[in-house]
Amino acid sequence: MSAQVVSPDAYASPHFKYGEFFVSSSYPAIAATLVDMIRVPHAQAIRWLCMTLLEPARVHFDVPFVIESGFRTHRLNELVNGSDRSQHRVGEAADVSVVGMDLEDVCDWIAANCAYGFGQLRLYLSKGIFHISLPTINHQGQYKVIP
Ligand SMILES: [Zn+2]
Repeated sequence: MSAQVVSPDAYASPHFKYGEFFVSSSYPAIAATLVDMIRVPHAQAIRWLCMTLLEPARVHFDVPFVIESGFRTHRLNELVNGSDRSQHRVGEAADVSVVGMDLEDVCDWIAANCAYGFGQLRLYLSKGIFHISLPTINHQGQYKVIP
């Protein structure tokens, strides 16, 4: 039996659907084939990412958060030159843009207010996105601004 599939329209948290994490702004056509691949283990990671990090910030700023890259298959991860150990591979990371907000304000707020913590928070100023991941043994509370 194959692992249980999760509907892309189901909510990971009040403002985020699982399907929003099966996207790629760089390779939309490939990402579009992924929505049938949302399995329970990935969905659980995505849900935790939303509930502890993205949802609190989304509620605080009350503006749309756009997931530019979420879950990645091996192939998609290779295409975007992602690390083999990227947390994107298991649904534990997302690259996010925020409509109408200074991203540095958003990232500073997450760093200061998300009680359960993050693994890596990387603000890419020139790309207009931030990368955020769940904490791991190796990565906890690493916040970096990259010009
Ligand atoms: Zn990322």
